[in-house]
Amino acid sequence: MENTVLVHATIIDCTGADPRPEGWVVLEGDRIKEVGHGRPGVLPAKATVIDCQGQTLLPGLIDGHVHIGSVEASIVEQQRTCHTSTLIIKSLKILKETLDQGFTTARDCGGVDAGFRQAVAEGLVPGPRLFVSGRILSQTGGHGDWRLATETYPPVFHEGGVASGIYDGVDAVRRGAREQLRRGADFVKIMASGGCASPADEIDTSQYSLEEMQAAVFEAESAGKYVAAHCYSDRGIKLCCKAGIKTVEHGNLLTESSAQAMKDAGTYLVPTMVTYVVLAQKGAEYGAPKDWIRKNLQALEKGEQSMAIARKLGVKICSGSDLLGPMQVNKGMELALQAKALGPMGALIATTRTNAEMLGQSRNLGTIEPGKLADFVLVKGDPLKDIALFQDYDENLTLIIQNGRIHKNILTGGR
Ligand SMILES: [Zn+2]
Repeated sequence: MENTVLVHATIIDCTGADPRPEGWVVLEGDRIKEVGHGRPGVLPAKATVIDCQGQTLLPGLIDGHVHIGSVEASIVEQQRTCHTSTLIIKSLKILKETLDQGFTTARDCGGVDAGFRQAVAEGLVPGPRLFVSGRILSQTGGHGDWRLATETYPPVFHEGGVASGIYDGVDAVRRGAREQLRRGADFVKIMASGGCASPADEIDTSQYSLEEMQAAVFEAESAGKYVAAHCYSDRGIKLCCKAGIKTVEHGNLLTESSAQAMKDAGTYLVPTMVTYVVLAQKGAEYGAPKDWIRKNLQALEKGEQSMAIARKLGVKICSGSDLLGPMQVNKGMELALQAKALGPMGALIATTRTNAEMLGQSRNLGTIEPGKLADFVLVKGDPLKDIALFQDYDENLTLIIQNGRIHKNILTGGR
């Protein structure tokens, strides 16, 4: 078993403890063997020692909401204009860039399938450890129905990219969920409200009936898995909570009463603030349609307020980016946006410990503690003073370790 020892690190372990200077970590294979501070005891023979030069060591970051298969800004158009093979080839770059940004784990909320998870696990391509939903389930006229209101052809069941399909009625939703689970999905993703990119709905609507949601939840839970729901609206969020959906994605129109419903049901909120900010800045440049930009602004306006409400009512808050196409290089900006509501330590914990808990991976991920997987990010500077440092990841992330293997090390000048 290979041993690596990290020494002279300021450790923020993301358990909630204060940072500790002069920390050290002993790795054994892909796991953390020991963590301490001050003088390390007897180091394992033949250990590779990495001097962290006093920089801040964090657990590997987790992005709770990505679309690796979103290779262009318009997820709707890319499904029309790209072959599945092109979508896959282009997404490999996004996969690597996500790991380059310090995210050693990511949850893909629609699009890529279990094959991607396997390819990363086998080391065929560099990328974050993946948890995938496969194809998204949507109702007719829902956020996963990308036909224009003027188009009357039957819905298309997309494969690859940001794949979605139309499933109406309890039986169809049940079959859709079973289909994704059969194909190795880690969870089932449904569309429970309108969205920005879909041409035929508004964000303050609700989609799917309680019975349809319950069918998806029943099937997912029967397989030991769960349902994640794209949802903005108050009405949709309350239906999600009633149906037993585990995670509400985005949640930008959250009110005190829907936040209370989430708190009572133990539902996780996965805010994705950065995608609205970046779309507002760059959407037009990347060719996002006017209607999309209008709806994006509605979501952006309410996003911060919804985080504040969630925090006040004690909802479990995770962290995701949901960035699309070339905008995906901004994933690290989410931490700074979250910090406005949660403070820098709160943003770090949402991006590590709480995301790991949401994934059902508390035993393996999310904190620097003995027994967990050896995923680390070392950053130049103090993230508690400058949480925006993740944005310039090329410069500020000096060491990235995943499963005990070094992905990047510029501490000694090399890469
Ligand atoms: Zn999304």
